[in-house]
Amino acid sequence: MTTRLLEQEWFDLLPVLPGITIIAEPLHMERVQSFLIEGNDRAILLDTGMGVGDIRAIADDLTSLPVSVVNSHAHWDHIGGNWRFDDIAIHPAEAEMLPKGGSNARLARWFTPDHLLGPLPRDFDLESYSIAPSTATQLLLDGDYIDLGGRELSVLHTPGQSTGGIVLLDEQAGVLFSTDVAYPGPLYAYERDEWSNYRATMRRLAALASSIDIVLPSHNGPTMEPSLLPLMDQAFADIDAGRIPDTNGAETVTHRFGGFSVVVPASLNEERGEA
Ligand SMILES: [Zn+2]
Repeated sequence: MTTRLLEQEWFDLLPVLPGITIIAEPLHMERVQSFLIEGNDRAILLDTGMGVGDIRAIADDLTSLPVSVVNSHAHWDHIGGNWRFDDIAIHPAEAEMLPKGGSNARLARWFTPDHLLGPLPRDFDLESYSIAPSTATQLLLDGDYIDLGGRELSVLHTPGQSTGGIVLLDEQAGVLFSTDVAYPGPLYAYERDEWSNYRATMRRLAALASSIDIVLPSHNGPTMEPSLLPLMDQAFADIDAGRIPDTNGAETVTHRFGGFSVVVPASLNEERGEA
């Protein structure tokens, strides 16, 4: 009981619509959000957070339905609680990353005081913290449907931020789970090879904006205005057309817009300059 209370202090539960609950981690500056999405027959947990606290206990508390995991992508802050679940679905391009988990050496630096907005749970031990390996039991491809009984989610493969990134669309409810592909914050288009994919992805999401009522992003939420999607698409187009960055770093440059920014490799502009 005591443990549960401490976990609840780490997680913030926000019911947004019937059958959709945001499971936020507001005390870490990344402000990661996972989502419990329920149908009549079963539920999915879209991502499993940073691995702090027991997200399985939270999900089981919220629903009596069987819960399986869908990973939006395999970055560590979205797969932390995967090992607590038997069924895990992910795009094939990132499935092989799950068994690698995340070592303490790689991840402990993300929990120094400058990354925190509040206390870690009392039973959290940074010395031994790591992300346990997990295994994909199902592969999700673009155009697949996830049938939860009375709720159908369509899978869109949206590469750019990561090669196997997906978003989920609940057409009937008018909800887009935009994951790490589109959120109100710095969009990381670090991968030079992925830039043209990210542009195409943004174009695709912008085309959905008029048919959705609510966007649920995986960082910096809880929600995002659908009208930001076409603005992001325009931003990507402007960057592609040679927009001057607002901040220049050695490796990356940053383009700032209202409500979000786009971080791209410095080489993107250098190549253009040479052309
Ligand atoms: Zn993320």
